[in-house]
Amino acid sequence: MGTESYRFNVGSFECIAIHDGDVIYTADKYFANAPEEQLAEMARRHRLDPQRIPSPYSGLVINTGAHSVLIDTGAGKWIPGAGRLRDNLEQKGIAAAAIDTVILTHGHPDHLGGNTNASGEVVFHNARHIIAKDEWEYWSSDASLNNPKSQPFVACARQNLQPLHDQLELVDGEREIVPGIRMLPTPGHTPGHMAVVVSSGQEELLYISDAALHPIHLEQPAWYPAYDLDPDQALSSKCRLFDFAATDSALVLAFHFSPFPSLGHVIKQGSGWRWEPVDMTP
Ligand SMILES: [Zn+2]
Repeated sequence: MGTESYRFNVGSFECIAIHDGDVIYTADKYFANAPEEQLAEMARRHRLDPQRIPSPYSGLVINTGAHSVLIDTGAGKWIPGAGRLRDNLEQKGIAAAAIDTVILTHGHPDHLGGNTNASGEVVFHNARHIIAKDEWEYWSSDASLNNPKSQPFVACARQNLQPLHDQLELVDGEREIVPGIRMLPTPGHTPGHMAVVVSSGQEELLYISDAALHPIHLEQPAWYPAYDLDPDQALSSKCRLFDFAATDSALVLAFHFSPFPSLGHVIKQGSGWRWEPVDMTP
């Protein structure tokens, strides 16, 4: 088990990656369309047990000086092995009431399950909560119930979005949320999936959320997770995002990349990219 939080700076912004928990996934979920032999060879190269792929959930809080912004609220009570984000924030001296802005990258339980507590009350009760309009509409409509890929997550999305009422703001397209932090449409994983760009001075951090779940998705961008609702759209979002990350040499926080705090850089390599984790040795 890694640490529960990791502090770093982006320009003058103070950032803390917050560990929500660790969950094990399997290769059939992560690389749904990967040819068996190629996957076996890739797994060997990455020293990966296809039946036990570890994933941290790595949320992020940013103090810009003017705003206290949380990106994703973790799984709350919805996923065993996770749901520690709020406690870990408090450990760092950050009360839920001190967060003024919550950015929700998409409607899956590991990203918004911590919006409400066990009693259904809004946890970050002083915060405006931002989500893409397309995302809100998807999880609020029958489309999410009628798709077997999203049906299991509908109850969680609705129970964590509906209580927000007028604290919820819907955004359409690319949008600056507070000075230095902007949301970037990257649809495909879900219809309104968003990445977040954090910039201060000359420095830049790209929070990719679930545009990729594992470094292998950089090397084999066409291998998609079973969770992607529109794999073709996800592929074009992924390519735009990683070209941007590689060109700008941006620091990247990849929510699911092991180990926590999931920080690294994306390097162009052949027809894809490769992941270079930040060296965490003290
Ligand atoms: Zn996720």
